[in-house]
Amino acid sequence: MPQRVRLMRDLEVALERLRDFESPVESLEQYRTPGDVAALMIWEAYMRSDLARSVVVDLGCGTGVLAHGSLLLGAPSALCLDVDWSALTVARDNLSEFRGSFDLVAGDARSLPLRPAGDYCSVVMNPPFGVKRRGADVEFLRSAAALCSTVYSVHKLSPGGLRLIARLAEELGCRLDVIAEATMSLRQTLRHHRRRVYRFKVVLIRLARTSSGEGAEG
Ligand code: SAH
Repeated sequence: MPQRVRLMRDLEVALERLRDFESPVESLEQYRTPGDVAALMIWEAYMRSDLARSVVVDLGCGTGVLAHGSLLLGAPSALCLDVDWSALTVARDNLSEFRGSFDLVAGDARSLPLRPAGDYCSVVMNPPFGVKRRGADVEFLRSAAALCSTVYSVHKLSPGGLRLIARLAEELGCRLDVIAEATMSLRQTLRHHRRRVYRFKVVLIRLARTSSGEGAEG
C-alpha cells in the first residue's frame, strides 16, 4: 500500500526521493522534473478532481515522477509513455509500489499508438522544452489534447511563448489556465548546462477542451 500524502510538501518530498535518469540523453532533453514543480502541478490536478478520471497519461514520462505523484494522490491508474527504453526502466522502478496500476508504453508522443479517450483520461506531462528540437513542446501539446480532454503541462517561459500556447489552445478548442509560474532548478546533468545548478522560469498550464476543435474525439 503506498504511503498517503496529506500536504503538498509531503508530495514534494516523496517525489524528490525517486530515482533519476542513469545517463540522460541530451537530444531527448531528459531531466527529472524537480519535486516542487511536479508537486505543484499534480496537486492542482488533484484539487480540480482531474486525477479521478480512469487513467492519467504521462507523456514523455522519463523517470515516471508525474505518474508516481498522480498515483500517490489516488489516480486509479497511469499510462506512461516514453520513446526511450532506459527511461522506462527507471520509471518501472520508481512505480514498483503501484504494481498493477500502471502501464509502460514505448512509443513516440508525436504519433501516439492510442485512440483518443476524451474525458476518460487526463494528461500530466513535462515535455521536452523544444530547446534541442524546436517545436517539440507544441507537438506534445497537440498529441496530448487530441488524446485527453484535460492536459497539465510545464513549459519554459520565454517571450512570446505563452502567447503561442494561447493561440494553440484556441485552435485546439481548449480553455487555457495558467496555474503558476515557477523557477526550475536542475542540477547539471546535460552537457549544455554550464553551471552546476541551472535555473530558469517555467509556466505550468492546464488545457481543458471546451469545443470540438482539432483536439476533439472522432
Ligand atoms: N517527466 C519526466 C521526463 C521529462 S524530460 C520526468 O520528470 O522524469 C522529457 C522526456 O520526454 C524524456 O524522458 C524523453 O525521453 C521524452 N521524450 C522526448 N521526445 C519524445 C518523443 N518524441 N516521444 C516520447 N517521449 C519523448
